[in-house]
Amino acid sequence: MPRSSADEARLDAVAMANRLHSDLGLRQRVTQGDGVIDVFGAIAELGIPLVFKPLDSALGLCLPAPLSGIMITTRRGLHIQRFTAAHELGHASLEHMGSVDQEILERGPNYDDGGRDLQEVAADAFAAEFLLPRWLYRHHIQKQGWTLTYDLKMPATIYQLALRMSVSYEAACWGLLSHKIMDWRQVQSLRKAKLADLKSGLGDGHRPADSWSDVWRVTERDHGASLTGNPADLLRIELSEAPASGHRWTVESLAVLGWDLLEDHSDFQHAPLLYGAPSRRVMIARAQQPGLNRIDLRERQPWGPDHEDDPHFALAIALSGPETPGLSRADRARLGLGN
Ligand SMILES: [Zn+2]
Repeated sequence: MPRSSADEARLDAVAMANRLHSDLGLRQRVTQGDGVIDVFGAIAELGIPLVFKPLDSALGLCLPAPLSGIMITTRRGLHIQRFTAAHELGHASLEHMGSVDQEILERGPNYDDGGRDLQEVAADAFAAEFLLPRWLYRHHIQKQGWTLTYDLKMPATIYQLALRMSVSYEAACWGLLSHKIMDWRQVQSLRKAKLADLKSGLGDGHRPADSWSDVWRVTERDHGASLTGNPADLLRIELSEAPASGHRWTVESLAVLGWDLLEDHSDFQHAPLLYGAPSRRVMIARAQQPGLNRIDLRERQPWGPDHEDDPHFALAIALSGPETPGLSRADRARLGLGN
């Protein structure tokens, strides 16, 4: 079957996204760093001016050369801001005419676009590939030890995958399809999940204060991670514990680090009931302040001395929320303008 012009546009866009990954050395930087493609940073590195404004009538816009520049609304969450920025970067790098975007589809290749403008088809495909390359899925799936046959079939897992790539749940689902990690039927089934249900399940009845905030499930696999979320996000921390030997996680340190502990219990293995078997300690915490927060826990015997080889769990989470009017946080930091 001959390729349609929309197919050609998507293929060119995907090739351009891959070329930029390569030119900017993003694969190595992202997989050795925080596991998120920093699209605002990439735009800055390419020398394209980027500014955020409270636009009501558009998600974002792109001025063509020779003016050249990208503007993104502050009226949406960080995940939409990131996808919009990647879409506008697509217009800029594919040397399209200027564009004012009211609607952006968070999809990659292989879809019927029903007569959508070819430049928009290309910019959407560019954005999906730029933020969600196949190697980024592989990186997180391997790091978390998720399996295709079990874990990835559960919407709760895909939700956690999306958070770690800093994209919407919808965008993460479409990427599974475009990279042929899952088929159409599986992806449609995942897309039916209600995020509110996933969040309240993870929060054990505790919910974030607003509907756009998230619930992160972090485990030993996230030790050392740097995550980015919203100020009202909840953290569900699940860690193995050996209560038979008197070892407990030092949950008291959460309060010292500025966290409210909403929930703290241990899940024991029930079938078969094994006395002395490790249990799972489950803590649900909410940061008292937005911005950069840290978790630092040790598992030790409360009456014993500290040992250097006590199990240790630490991570950093920037609860910064969407970008605000003006320059991006990355640009402000680079220019020494503070937050
Ligand atoms: Zn566009």
